[in-house]
Amino acid sequence: MTMHMNTDAIVKLDGVVKQFGTFTAVERVDFEIGRGEFLAIMGSSGCGKTTTLRMLAGLDDPTEGDIWLDGERVNGKATWDRDTPMVWQSLALFPFLTVQENVEFSLKMRGVGKTERIARARNWLDKMQILEFADRNISQLSGGQRQRVALARALVTEPKILLLDEPLSALDAHLKVRMQAVLSSLQKDLGITFVYVTHSMSEAFSMADRVVIMSRGKIEQIGSPQEIYHAPRNRFVAEFLGSSNIFTGRLVEKSGDDWLVETVHGRFAVTASNAPAKSLGDAVTFTVSAENMHISPEGAHTPGIRAKVVGEEFVGATAIVFLETETGEELKVQKSHVELTSVNLHPGSTLNLHWESHSCHVLPGE
Ligand code: ATP
Repeated sequence: MTMHMNTDAIVKLDGVVKQFGTFTAVERVDFEIGRGEFLAIMGSSGCGKTTTLRMLAGLDDPTEGDIWLDGERVNGKATWDRDTPMVWQSLALFPFLTVQENVEFSLKMRGVGKTERIARARNWLDKMQILEFADRNISQLSGGQRQRVALARALVTEPKILLLDEPLSALDAHLKVRMQAVLSSLQKDLGITFVYVTHSMSEAFSMADRVVIMSRGKIEQIGSPQEIYHAPRNRFVAEFLGSSNIFTGRLVEKSGDDWLVETVHGRFAVTASNAPAKSLGDAVTFTVSAENMHISPEGAHTPGIRAKVVGEEFVGATAIVFLETETGEELKVQKSHVELTSVNLHPGSTLNLHWESHSCHVLPGE
């Protein structure tokens, strides 16, 4: 279950609200980040991720609530008085300085001597795999190279907290994966707390200790990647993760954790561990992940759902088959190519799908 960070939280947001005029961009957000933790913030465009990060950086002040950094309430405290550098999508590098000078800059501001400055800057440029561009001007770099200069510039002072807003968005897929590995190991080795905003689920889930999922200025769920993936709290999170098939119905029978739910497709057994208490007749929403959906063999009389194939997408060693039920619900099945060889996947063909009752997860927040 959710880790408790109260003992050694380095970041704490307490009832934080941010309004721009009458528009509420962040609505009563509470969370803590442990020292040395890697926290990713995800959510659809405009949900308040960047605004949350800007409040941590001191670029925006909360309208209500408190922000604590390393035991100190920092509301109203200027950016330059906080040890929270930020790496941006739009980078704010100095265009008239060389790559090396950009990275040295923050050390210079801290009065670090020239020899040490050069050595430290070169070390970070090397770690970010851009040492060969040390003497170039920023204008002579690609977007991805600039992003790595920005990372080197932020990391060279080895801050306690680093705020990152889509720091790898300009890199190609191959370099992105390499830089993810570099960032993850640096973060753990140096013990820096990372607050990392991203649109990429694979980035967030492969790097972060915990993930925050936001929508419309509110937190929908906080938890480890495993917790969120296997136990999404509500429909928003399940849909956001995109891997789940979602069904709704009414509770018609119940014996402990074994529930029977009546849906438009028939009655399904659901294992309701960790689900909130419900009475007969109550609405129940449950999900079955795409990997846990099975395609019944032709002619088998397994109870399940009939759905029409709409399309197919290759995802490495597996394929995702997209289907639609008679009542218009979209379903997904993810299987290895081998498992799909004997299945008719032509658009319009009908398949029978089934799953085991223990693969159902009741959404507790619905
Ligand atoms: P994206 O993923 O698209 O970058 P986000 O989750 O980072 O989005 P924010 O930049 O935090 O979103 O913005 C949240 C909301 O607040 C948006 O609807 C945005 O239009 C609004 N907003 C942000 N800054 C301001 C501002 N200075 N004045 C008015 N509205 C703003």
